[in-house]
Amino acid sequence: MRSSVRFFKPPVLLYKPAIDELCVSAVNGYEVPYKEEAFGFLFGRLSSEERLVVLRSVAYGGGTRTRTGVDFTPGQWAHAIRRRRELAATLRLSFAGCFHSHVGERYKRSWGLSPDDRDRILDDEDVAIELLVSVCEGRKGVLSPLSKSISWAIPNTPYQGIIRVYAKHYRSVVPVPSEFVTHPAVF
Ligand SMILES: [Zn+2]
Repeated sequence: MRSSVRFFKPPVLLYKPAIDELCVSAVNGYEVPYKEEAFGFLFGRLSSEERLVVLRSVAYGGGTRTRTGVDFTPGQWAHAIRRRRELAATLRLSFAGCFHSHVGERYKRSWGLSPDDRDRILDDEDVAIELLVSVCEGRKGVLSPLSKSISWAIPNTPYQGIIRVYAKHYRSVVPVPSEFVTHPAVF
C-alpha cells in the first residue's frame, strides 16, 4: 500500500503518548549492557489542513540491533514491510515512516542521521518521515535543542534527549519542524 501521507504541510504533529512510548523503547535500548538502537514504525493520518499527525508508534524487534545501527537482511526487511502493512490495517491508520534511536553520549554528532540512515529512508518509497530519537543521561535538565528539534525527558529519571523529524526533499533527507500535541481529537 502506498502511503497516503507522503505529501503534508509542516509542522509534523506528534501525539505525545505515542512519542512517550518510543522514548521508553529508546531508553530500554540504552539500558542493555552494550546499548542497542531502538527501531519501529509510525502511523498516523493527514488532518484537514494537510498536517501529518503521528498517532501511534509500534516498536519492531526484527533485524540485528547494535549500539550503532539496526541491520536487516533482505528477508528480514521484507518481513518488516509485511508487518507494518498489517499494523496499518489493524490500526486503521496510514504508515507514516520509521523511528530509530541513537544511544549516544552527550555529543551532538550522534544527533544526526548517518549515511546508512539516509540511504534506507531514500530507498523506502512508502516512508513520509523518519523520527530520530537521541537518548542520553543527564542531570542538568533538558538539553538545549538543535534547530527543528524537540527536547524530551522522562520525569524522575536521568533520561533525556532530542527528537528530530526528517522528510525527503528530492534526493536528500532534511529536518522538518515538528511539535507535540496532547489530544488526538484536535484535528
Ligand atoms: Zn541512525
